[in-house]
Amino acid sequence: MAEKVNIFWFRQDLRIADNPALTHAAESGRVLAVYILDQNDQGDHGPGAASRWWLHHSLKALNESLQGQLNIFRGDPQTILQDLQEKYGASEIFWNRCYEPQSIERDTAIKKFFQKQQVEVKSFNGSLLWEPMQVLKNDGTPYRVFTPYYRKGCLNADAPREPLPVPQKLNLLKSESSETLESLGLLPKIRWDQKMESYWEISEAGGQQKMQEFFEHGLRDYKEGRNFPAKSCVSRLSPYLHQGQISPNQAWYGAQAKHSGKNLDHFLSELGWREFSYSLLYHFPDLPSRNLQGRFDAFPWKEDSRLLERWKRGQTGYPIVDAGMRELWETGYVHNRVRMIVGSFLVKNLLLHWKHGERWFWDCLVDADMANNSASWQWVAGCGADAAPYFRIFNPVSQGQKFDPEGTYTKQFVPELKDLPAKYLFSPWEAPDLVLKNAGVQLGENYPHPIVPLRESREKALEAFSMLPKALSA
Ligand SMILES: Cc1cc2nc3c(=O)[nH]c(=O)nc-3n(C[C@H](O)[C@H](O)[C@H](O)COP(=O)(O)OP(=O)(O)OC[C@H]3O[C@@H](n4cnc5c(N)ncnc54)[C@H](O)[C@@H]3O)c2cc1C
Repeated sequence: MAEKVNIFWFRQDLRIADNPALTHAAESGRVLAVYILDQNDQGDHGPGAASRWWLHHSLKALNESLQGQLNIFRGDPQTILQDLQEKYGASEIFWNRCYEPQSIERDTAIKKFFQKQQVEVKSFNGSLLWEPMQVLKNDGTPYRVFTPYYRKGCLNADAPREPLPVPQKLNLLKSESSETLESLGLLPKIRWDQKMESYWEISEAGGQQKMQEFFEHGLRDYKEGRNFPAKSCVSRLSPYLHQGQISPNQAWYGAQAKHSGKNLDHFLSELGWREFSYSLLYHFPDLPSRNLQGRFDAFPWKEDSRLLERWKRGQTGYPIVDAGMRELWETGYVHNRVRMIVGSFLVKNLLLHWKHGERWFWDCLVDADMANNSASWQWVAGCGADAAPYFRIFNPVSQGQKFDPEGTYTKQFVPELKDLPAKYLFSPWEAPDLVLKNAGVQLGENYPHPIVPLRESREKALEAFSMLPKALSA
């Protein structure tokens, strides 16, 4: 008798190890492993250009690990799955759950459709340590503040699943209707990505290697070192976690196997922030589009495309801000401290809506993640659940001096300032003419004057904020 065929649908879990749905599919039959580029994906949150680039390389590597047996399609997932199910007589479909509102809607509809056809859909948790419906306050409502969410909610809930090994037996099936990776058209037409390639090894093995290197060298100074963009103290695992080349369970348990103490605790709590963002998105599905604190709806945001363009291009005249925006453009990643600095500058000094920042990050980040990106932008803007208070305005000069004291990071991405002494690096407009001349800096020529004055723009932001209705106490 021919062996039973199961369909396994890869989504944000582009790995073979610790993939619960794939493991279950492999245990009970031959596996038709498919990836579908969903033509309806996420409405206006279809993958941005950098994410598509990452996805291309991820699928290429995944297909190689599966010895060329990955089936690739584009179109409407339900139609494609139905065709495959009929053609191969598959009796079960397996996937790991996604948590974006549009994905939940899509998956629920597909599940219902197949139930009617007597085809079982089995879904698993492959992307989170704790699913959002699992961690709730005693009264059954979701947490809105991180510390109790993590300490009381997560750490008192069942321990996350231990990572699973690579399935022992994986008997794969190749469909002749599979399209080619190239036909998905994920790579950019204008090849801005060549430099980016040198920064990343995009594969499950590449993610594993990065994680092990971080455990060996970065994690031991994580708590303090994570604030300094020039140090190698952060993991840079976010794109791998987003697209699922590694799982949070592998990071959670892998870190604990090698470390203990404050650095470990801090790293685990950052993984906890990721969980918190997913919980917020799940329980407040408007997170990407609406202020969680409604009083911010009255905020008098400015519309100024010239300022926005200067911010996007890293031409604000504030070196640490420009370094961050150019790091984003060049590598598809920005260090967390610098994300907070450039975010604060956009929404507070420039008074531009956080959604402009969210959109630009969405397009340029290789780790663009609906939950983390929208929760973080709302945090920066002060309108989120457990947000930085609006009056906390990052000063780009003192932030640069404190967190990039040698200027190593800033000079890497803003090389036109590389000969400026550290004393003036973060405020070149204060440098004497001779110092500028000796460093080859001509303000307004090869590096811009500040696009807004620091003190006045800060005061304007505070004034705009003071006009808002007062926060209701929690
Ligand atoms: C304005 C803004 C936008 C952001 N957009 C995104 C985004 O689109 N995608 C994204 O993954 N992160 C986003 N973050 C959160 C954070 O900056 C990144 O997760 C982190 O910088 C990734 O680098 P890392 O992997 O080296 O982090 P590490 O410090 O090594 O942390 C390990 C992992 O924990 C998670 N994590 C760490 N910090 C946070 C945080 N503050 N919130 C949520 N999860 C966190 C990430 O999954 C990260 O990979 C954003 C932050 C800000 C301020």
